[in-house]
Amino acid sequence: MSYLFNRGIHPKDKKELTADLPFEVMSAPAKVYIPLCQHIGAPAKARVSVGDRVKAGTLIGEATGFISANVHSSVSGTVVAIEQRENAAGRKIDHIVIENDGLYEEEALPPLENPTKMDIFTRCYDAGIVGMGGATFPTHVKIQPNKPIHTLIINGAECEPYITADYRMMLEHPKEIVEGISYIKTVLGAQKVVIGIEDNKPKAIDAMQAAVAGTDITVQKLKTKYPQGGEKQLIHAVTKLKVPWTGLPADVGVIVVNVTTAFVVYEAIKLGKPSYTRFMTVSGKGIKRPANLIVRVGTPFEDVVDYLGHNDYVKAIVGGPMMGLSIANLNPVVAKGNSSLLLLDKSEEREIEPTPCINCGRCAMACPMRLIPMMTDRLILKDKIADSYKYHPQCCIECGCCAYVCPADRPLVQSQRLAKKLIKERMQ
Ligand code: SF4
Ligand code: SF4
Repeated sequence: MSYLFNRGIHPKDKKELTADLPFEVMSAPAKVYIPLCQHIGAPAKARVSVGDRVKAGTLIGEATGFISANVHSSVSGTVVAIEQRENAAGRKIDHIVIENDGLYEEEALPPLENPTKMDIFTRCYDAGIVGMGGATFPTHVKIQPNKPIHTLIINGAECEPYITADYRMMLEHPKEIVEGISYIKTVLGAQKVVIGIEDNKPKAIDAMQAAVAGTDITVQKLKTKYPQGGEKQLIHAVTKLKVPWTGLPADVGVIVVNVTTAFVVYEAIKLGKPSYTRFMTVSGKGIKRPANLIVRVGTPFEDVVDYLGHNDYVKAIVGGPMMGLSIANLNPVVAKGNSSLLLLDKSEEREIEPTPCINCGRCAMACPMRLIPMMTDRLILKDKIADSYKYHPQCCIECGCCAYVCPADRPLVQSQRLAKKLIKERMQ
């Protein structure tokens, strides 16, 4: 069995900048700006007012609706404003501004011993845990699927270039990850648990294999290929099951949870700590001292860059270079789902000058979702929305493989995004 999905690409991984650097704690800034929406779903509702005193771990935003997540303060201090600011995606959302008093007083939830299924579910909700791999789907919803689950896959692939936060997590906290996994397994009632790690991370494979000894959890070495960490690609590589194009992993009896999410679940249950710190990689040649950092949620990216220093750079990206968001300035803040911040210099940034498509078919050969990106690109530019629908752009996972291989530098991911948006608008 080759633990591999079909198609995909092999970009340079560039992880050597930070792979051997242990996490270091960045001290909190004088003010944090905590977004009330750091997750997929409805924004949380403010639970504090200007003038209120809070501690690290105080609930400051309450989940609203079924798909939503609680938000907690990351420092102790005083609420000085509730204001709208742009997040990394350029969306204006409410942020709670807290002046840090430097005392670092904490408010924890009661630690749980031998928790029941309901205890674990409730704790994930109370602690505001969301998918730390970047998807930011609320974990309490993910672990309550309405279908039976036979396999829990723990995603340790971390296939995006530059990022080493999950890798360091597996080296530094393997036992805690395994404990977090055991709680998630209890809720799901899964018979099988597999930790999937790419074979370019042998030390992480060894660390996790040692940590699972004596349990029924297995560690599966996966061939290195991008986007191995995509949910559907990982499920296919590990189980050979195919999630339907428009379906969810639970449709084939599988749930995928990121390794750092498992660690955060451990912290919430064992230590009673709500989710308000972020383990992240800050890298690229534009950063003077690349690092793996533990940062408090709500810290402006500008402070993170000041802390490490910077060289000349041409592009700032939140997330990886393949699927991350390019940001125009460093005003947005670190949120729960941000596994990395990259500053790329000229030598790392490919200059793109699109030319007409030459029908080489490479984009289709690279697409892990088996789409035909050049057709969507062609049709959407001619405003043929209904015709583009036939090529299923709504199934695009925006992995960027097509654009990476295109010799004509076509902006294929943007075309897929535009097609998705226009199709959705038309359907509504
Ligand atoms: S069409 Fe979408 S899923 Fe396919 S390679 Fe391009 S970005 Fe990835
Ligand atoms: S890879 Fe680029 S040039 Fe080749 S078919 Fe696709 S869009 Fe056209």
